[in-house]
Amino acid sequence: MEVIDFKNNIDKDKLNMISKSLQNGELVIFPTETVYGIGANALNKDAVDNIFKAKGRANDNPLIVHISNFDMLKELVYEPTDIEKKLIDAFMPGPFTLILKKKNIIPENVSCGLDTVGIRFPENNIAREIIENTNLPIAAPSANISSKPSGTKVEDIIEEFQDKVSYIVDGGETKIGIESTVVKVIDNIPTILRPGKITPEDIKEVVGCVKIDEHVYKKATGKVESPGMKYKHYAPSTPCLLVYSDNNQELINLIKENITANTSIIGCVEHKSYFPNHKYHVYGHKENNDEISHNIFSLLREVDKDKSDLIIIEGVKKQGLGIAIMNRLIRSCAYNYKER
Ligand code: AMP
Ligand code: MG
Repeated sequence: MEVIDFKNNIDKDKLNMISKSLQNGELVIFPTETVYGIGANALNKDAVDNIFKAKGRANDNPLIVHISNFDMLKELVYEPTDIEKKLIDAFMPGPFTLILKKKNIIPENVSCGLDTVGIRFPENNIAREIIENTNLPIAAPSANISSKPSGTKVEDIIEEFQDKVSYIVDGGETKIGIESTVVKVIDNIPTILRPGKITPEDIKEVVGCVKIDEHVYKKATGKVESPGMKYKHYAPSTPCLLVYSDNNQELINLIKENITANTSIIGCVEHKSYFPNHKYHVYGHKENNDEISHNIFSLLREVDKDKSDLIIIEGVKKQGLGIAIMNRLIRSCAYNYKER
């Protein structure tokens, strides 16, 4: 394994090495604007199998296929409907995944036997250059061992993947920090299966309607539209409790009522001074969801080092990007959530 630093510039020889390795069916970790991805040639069944093995990913949790131009899209999926086309025009490239009817060229294991596939056209320059130069669609889930928080910087993931991939491409910290918004158009209504930076309001503005899948905050069992919703996810090893209130004093009270001597807290900078005797990890300023989403996954990894017996995490308002932050945090806490 070699770490390749593309933070300041993309070296053409190194880019060619990365492309060769992907063309040979090897695994490469690369940055996107959302989180780091662990990628392989999406048309090579064995290469795709190795992604599942490297992550310890359940074989009914399908992968998203990344493209760098719209000609690739035509090869992979059937003609999108008018609504789907509007979404593509509005949000690709960007932190957005659209579930479309797949063609047979995509191996079964990419979509875990479904007749659909998630397509994403990343905006991140390094991701785009790698895909374009390789001239192949790249299947890439988030770069983390399954159930762990997604990787948002190389330092966080190098240990768990150094023996499993050929290259780790370093692009610095990912801009957004949480995964793409996953949307499937069901009965002509764009339905958000996984919330992200592209919000329900953004989608409504483009097509006039939007639905949020009921499992966004709820535990999913049995048959669900997006199999990834079934799994425990984004979780530190230490047990976590998520708390939230619109009322600031109530939020502080909720933390105080549940805190133990050896509790760590993840919360906003404004509340740090209330807990001088505890390890307090700042995820950003209150209600600055861009800052919070950027920092959260790395903090969820860091806080495990405290060796506390409980982590209390301050929730945010379920609005805009806050919907995605709460969707991830509820899973980090294995649905252990108190709201008042
Ligand atoms: P990750 O690869 O970790 O970003 O997770 C990808 C997410 O997209 C998971 O929640 C998957 O279940 C979801 N997904 C991928 N392909 C499909 C599909 N064809 N239908 C529904 N959900 C999908
Ligand atoms: Mg993931």
